[in-house]
Amino acid sequence: LPIAKATHQSVVEAVTQGETTHSPEPYTDYQAYLDNESGYVTYQDCLDKQITREHVIETLESSNLRGLGGAGFPVGRKWKIVSEMPDPKYMAVNIDEGEPGTFKDRYYLERDPHRFLEGMLIAAEVVGINHIYIYLRDEYADIRHILETELKTLAEQADFTLPTIELRRGAGAYICGEESAMIESIEGKRGMPRLRPPFVASVGVFGRPTLEHNMESLYWVRDMIEKGTDWFTKEGRHDRTGLRSFSVSGRVNKPGVHLAPAGITVKELIEEYCGGMLDGQTFYGYYPGGASGGILPASLGDVPLDFDTLQPHGCFIGSAAVVVLSDQDSAKDCAINSMHFFEHESCGQCTPCRVGTSKAIQLMEKDTWDTELMNELSDVMVDASICGLGQAAPNPMLSVIKFFPQEVNK
Ligand code: SF4
Repeated sequence: LPIAKATHQSVVEAVTQGETTHSPEPYTDYQAYLDNESGYVTYQDCLDKQITREHVIETLESSNLRGLGGAGFPVGRKWKIVSEMPDPKYMAVNIDEGEPGTFKDRYYLERDPHRFLEGMLIAAEVVGINHIYIYLRDEYADIRHILETELKTLAEQADFTLPTIELRRGAGAYICGEESAMIESIEGKRGMPRLRPPFVASVGVFGRPTLEHNMESLYWVRDMIEKGTDWFTKEGRHDRTGLRSFSVSGRVNKPGVHLAPAGITVKELIEEYCGGMLDGQTFYGYYPGGASGGILPASLGDVPLDFDTLQPHGCFIGSAAVVVLSDQDSAKDCAINSMHFFEHESCGQCTPCRVGTSKAIQLMEKDTWDTELMNELSDVMVDASICGLGQAAPNPMLSVIKFFPQEVNK
């Protein structure tokens, strides 16, 4: 599909122009992490009860750290809920990172894998878990090599005994980034989302209580405990607090992963972190949260980017994948491209999503859009789809109807 190639190109540009092109050599390996970063001291303190489970959970709750995979559930509360569940419990770490435009997990793992592993081990100790599954997207072959190498070294050289850790390869399905589909895949089944409730905190991997986390949420745990919550909460703009890792791609001079205050606006992000727009191009619009987060126009470039701030506009920040569009782009083409993606990646389990995405494409490829019919179709998909894919798939289409009517009312 030519359109699919066009939008993929913007992500390719981000990766090839930005810092994420090649993993830095050398990354911080086990010895460097011990020597230069005081690695695993905090974890050892947790094992020795110098740092109590209660203190860790309180710290995470007061930091208001939220899940950074997209759903934004408070990390401390999740740990508390799962810690109170009966044994045995599992952990499932989600590194599927399939949302178009998102590459922050890859960025951090290519540089500092042990910061994530230490956070993961702290979580296991605090919540009472001795079996962990790491679910890694298959496209991240370099990272698989890094994690295999470093987990082996950790098992051979660390002074503590590791819980059981299994590194599982995904097989390229976007839907396996959805937590319950990922769990099905970990269990060896076809990755299809489960109906909820029950939630994975009580019925997860192999029917047992499961702590499911995005990689980045665990990556920040060690810093949160060592530096205190002020380190995190003093950051933020426009009445928001904390830091966010933005994966920025598209028509900017410096795409890549930018750690910036939560609540920063896209205009500030472009100017202060991304070196401005590409020469000769004018800011036209942006995806604030990957393909599923919808598309906003430049006139809404002053909205703070954070959880809950974009809902009034029918969009969301998700995993903070910001794709910047210029006057050389078409929001309609982008929305069609996104819908092709969702159609392709739908697991096919429920009709509103399987048929709805396909029907939406037929409607969107017409020169003039039947917006009444599209809104009706969207309502069915949002109300009746089992999981977030089908519920969010109409977002880019609805964004075009709302914010870019000049492109579809011929
Ligand atoms: Fe599968 Fe789509 Fe239904 Fe989700 S909404 S369960 S992806 S068919």
